[in-house]
Amino acid sequence: MSTIDEIGIIGGGQLGFMLAQASLYLGIRSHFLDPNQHSPAGLVAEGIYKPFDDINALRELAQTSKALTYEFENINYQALQELGVEAHPSPTLLHKSQDRLAEKELCNELGFETAGFLPINNSGDLEQAANKLGFPFLVKTCRLGYDGKGQFWINSAEDFMKLQPKPGVYIAEAKVPFDRELSIAAVRGKNKEVRSYPLSQNWHSEGILRESCPFQMVEEESELVQTLQTQAEAIAKAFLEAFDYIGVLSIEFFLHNGKLLINELAPRVHNSYHWTMSGSETSQFENHMRAIAGLPLGSSKLSKPVRLFNCIGKMPAPRDCLAIEGLHYYSYHKEPRAGRKMGHLILSEPSEESIESVRKLLL
Ligand code: AMP
Repeated sequence: MSTIDEIGIIGGGQLGFMLAQASLYLGIRSHFLDPNQHSPAGLVAEGIYKPFDDINALRELAQTSKALTYEFENINYQALQELGVEAHPSPTLLHKSQDRLAEKELCNELGFETAGFLPINNSGDLEQAANKLGFPFLVKTCRLGYDGKGQFWINSAEDFMKLQPKPGVYIAEAKVPFDRELSIAAVRGKNKEVRSYPLSQNWHSEGILRESCPFQMVEEESELVQTLQTQAEAIAKAFLEAFDYIGVLSIEFFLHNGKLLINELAPRVHNSYHWTMSGSETSQFENHMRAIAGLPLGSSKLSKPVRLFNCIGKMPAPRDCLAIEGLHYYSYHKEPRAGRKMGHLILSEPSEESIESVRKLLL
């Protein structure tokens, strides 16, 4: 199998930036497509600054690359299959993951639990959802929702009267009174080898991920950690194998009454695994690019205790952050904007005291 040394990335945001950066030392050149002239990936890779839905721009990216990958899901998956170069991860799974309804149905078909859900095509479906799921329940747009966008809590009949459903636009989802939010990232190489990272525990607020750390660092009951790790790995492997998947796959779960319910699939690297940049021998970004290049995968084991903090809306001053022992600073070089992921911090060997110090900087 020959090594691929030029990879095109669709999307030049922070994930594209970190993918391109990780591939540099592997001898892989990256190109990316993004309409934004100030894309973070432009700091480390050559950009084609054109719209994502411009088929000629996708062709141009394909011509400069020996394989394609992507950093977000809202991509023309059909075009991806017709560009004449290999595209990973699986455009078929990408297609399913673009629509919350298709994604949940797929999870259930493969035998995995999700929150109860119903497609909402008209007002009658909303009434049925209220009867079946009970108040409060969530209405989410089937497509294009991220960081809690396109989600509405429905607490009463009055709330849903305000919605005007159109066919195929919304899905209703039962509220899961979860104990924890967990995720897994697993990578599959071209030789079909699969490596899984340790489960991550994730804390969101206002639908945006704020903090993550390896689950084993916060759960003392090691038997529970091991059981859930085994279950999550088996779930990830089922998707990886069913779709002959190459690259990193991330799955978000709710842990409810000891059971893992799938919340979302992300056929890409994931924010909840940014801590692998310090806490694992091989980061998720490097392993994703290794997989696509056809290189051997690296260890996904935890190398030291770490905690990830997202910087939302603004970056704290580097001087203040770096005064905290073990804190590492990752800026995405973006223009500050409310709710925007601007960068992240990774704290090595976190203690209650150092965690609190970091949180104060992020207020
Ligand atoms: P999502 O965009 O679906 O990942 O949702 C963002 C966040 O909203 C999740 O990480 C949860 O914190 C919360 N959330 C989403 N769906 C549900 C649900 N069915 N029940 C409870 N909380 C949810």
